[in-house]
This record gives sequence, C-alpha cells and structure tokens, in this order.
Amino acid sequence: MSYKIAIDGPSAAGKSTISKLLAKELGYVYIDTGALYRAVALFLVRNNINPDDEQAIKQVINSINVDLKYESGEQVVLLNGENVNRYLRTNEISQAASKSSVFKSVRDRLLDLQRKIANENSCVMDGRDIGSKVLPDANLKIFLTASVDSRAKRRYDENLSKGIICDLGEMKKEIEERDYRDTHRENDPLVQVEGAKYIDSTDMTIDEVLDRILSYT
Ligand code: C5P
Repeated sequence: MSYKIAIDGPSAAGKSTISKLLAKELGYVYIDTGALYRAVALFLVRNNINPDDEQAIKQVINSINVDLKYESGEQVVLLNGENVNRYLRTNEISQAASKSSVFKSVRDRLLDLQRKIANENSCVMDGRDIGSKVLPDANLKIFLTASVDSRAKRRYDENLSKGIICDLGEMKKEIEERDYRDTHRENDPLVQVEGAKYIDSTDMTIDEVLDRILSYT
C-alpha cells in the first residue's frame, strides 16, 4: 500500500523545501505539481500566448504534453519531450503560471498525470489543490503557510543567493497577487480542507516544520 502526503499552501511558504526533505527522510517520491503548471506557462510564453487568454489557451492545450521522470531522485519536467527544468523558475514564468492555472482546461489537462504518478508511488506531493482535488484520499494532509512578509523575504533572499537582484516590496506585491488568484479562482482554489493539519512556519525553522510533520506520520 502506498502512503500519500498532500502539502498545500500559498506561494513561497517553503512547501518544496519541506516536501523534498520529507520525501528524502521517508524514502518517498517528491512530486512538485507547481512545476507542471510552470511547464504549461513556459509553452504559452514561448508561443506568445497571453496567459490570461482562456480561449487561446483552450485551442492549444491538447498540444501541450507535460510529463515527469526522475533522474537520481530529481524530478525532471518534460515539455513535449524536452527537459525544461532550467527554464521554470523565472519571475516571468511564475506570473504566467499563476495566471494560466486559473483555467479549467489547464487544470484538467494536468490532473490525470498527477494522480497517475501518485498512485505508482508512496509520495509527498505539494501544490494548491492536492488535498482537496488531486488526492482527496491522501493519508496525511498539511496546510503550510507563513506571513506574507516572511514569504517575501525568503523569496528575496533566495533570489539574492542566486545573484538575482529584486525589490522586496515588489516581491511582496507579487506574492499577494498570486495569493489572491490562488484563493479566489473558480476552479480548485487553495483552501484548507477539513482534516488538514495547519502549520504556520513564520517563526519556525525548517527542522521544526519537518519534525512537526513527521510527528503526524
Ligand atoms: O508552487 P509553484 O509556485 O511552483 O506553482 C506555480 C503556480 O502554479 C502557482 O502560482 C499556482 O497558481 C499554480 N499551481 C496550482 N495548483 C497546483 C500547483 C501550482 O494552481 N497544484
């Protein structure tokens, strides 16, 4: 029997860092579903399709094939067969993924893939609608959040460490916009589902968050 852990929460709450460590600790597969939405966004950006244009996206969505494979334990995202990992983390793609992921056609396109991979493995899957939609039968559901200020600061520091200069105020504004879209969209909005354990990591270290989650397993 596989064991499934669903970790949902807003942007930059530390979901991927925690999920990766948790999966490693438990020997499970880590599935970063945001990367799938980012791959769709990359396709749109490359093809000059406005990520707000629902009709234009509908017309191309079936020609977008996103798949995942694992190489030395690392998730590799394939967009029409191409490894696109290195293109997914830019600010442009973050914004485009946040916008295009509100549409049902995009969410439907990625649903089966997420379920298929989860069913093949014991896994830690992170995203926005994992506990509510993708894996409603998950063994453990976590809602991981932190204050907007601390999330903006973490993202800002992360960028600086990569040599990317950005503005902290701007970062905070973008995170707030993404939060708004994630929680107000009609299709599979971000919610804390019943039964999910709520963790506010604002004043917690990574190890403390990890220990808390492990105590629930
Ligand atoms: O988690 P990450 O920031 O990489 O996700 C990129 C975008 O994809 C988010 O802004 C969010 O709107 C969307 N997303 C989603 N559902 C998921 C995972 C991500 O709508 N399960």
